[in-house]
Amino acid sequence: MSAIILGHKNPDTDSIISAIVCADLYAKRGLDVVPAAQGAPAPETAFVLERFGLKAPEVVDSVAGRDVYLVDYSDLAQAPADFKDAVLKGIVDHHKLGDVTSSAPVECVIMPVGCTNTILKGMYDFFGFEIPANLAGAMLCAILSDTVIFKSPTTTEADRKAAAELARIAGVEDVNALGMELFTAKSAVKGATPKSLICRDFKDFNMSGSKVGVGQLELVDLSIIEAEIPALLEELGRMKSEGRHTAMLLLTDIMKEGSLLLMASDEPERIAKAFGKELAAEPLWLDGVLSRKKQVVPNLEAAFKA
Ligand code: MG
Ligand code: MG
Ligand code: MG
Repeated sequence: MSAIILGHKNPDTDSIISAIVCADLYAKRGLDVVPAAQGAPAPETAFVLERFGLKAPEVVDSVAGRDVYLVDYSDLAQAPADFKDAVLKGIVDHHKLGDVTSSAPVECVIMPVGCTNTILKGMYDFFGFEIPANLAGAMLCAILSDTVIFKSPTTTEADRKAAAELARIAGVEDVNALGMELFTAKSAVKGATPKSLICRDFKDFNMSGSKVGVGQLELVDLSIIEAEIPALLEELGRMKSEGRHTAMLLLTDIMKEGSLLLMASDEPERIAKAFGKELAAEPLWLDGVLSRKKQVVPNLEAAFKA
């Protein structure tokens, strides 16, 4: 049976495109692999697949007995529940090292860059394979998405260089315009339930024994979502009651470059303090905060260790 290349839960554009791209690259290397995803594409990813004529990967929620390559994560919490019964074959990722382990040697390419697709671009170069134009366009979109059009502090020189080369291969002339189209697609909130908005990009973290869930919705303008805030808070309260210490949602304004923090928490003061704030006025505005990975998770980890 083919090995599975699988992105994280609540798949974002990077995790879905990484699986598709990695499958192309590994097939060129002679490996028997299929891309998969732990869910259907969100609106932004659907835009990318449609624009570049790609098919959504098969949705998989069980991997018992399969060989698995992880892309865009290495945490058990982000993997299917029966991952312990699978065989880990490799990882390509750009997050902090997670807690998966293996019983045999694995191929790991983990680098502190802004996007998994930046690493994959480097891997095509390393193995000497050409990147098909449509995959290059999708990879470019993944980089634009993860780096918030190069505004996120997670952006590195490697991301800019990979994006420029991918734009050339894909024949994309105006990279910023493509980025705005992407985030406009991502900003589609009409008709979506509060739960689906929170879960579009939601990750649970183990913070010194406390389960903390952090969702993020990146929008071109927060006014799109203002009327939904009470319903979102209500849903966060429900999600907190599912065994979480805190359920939070970052409403990130990519033009104003900051995030509004909505939360339901056992210790809201502790969360506010993690960002140097008093819990005076809710929701909290976190100026300059665009990255969950670099500007939110480390603060929370420090606050929960204290
Ligand atoms: Mg991701
Ligand atoms: Mg990523
Ligand atoms: Mg992201």
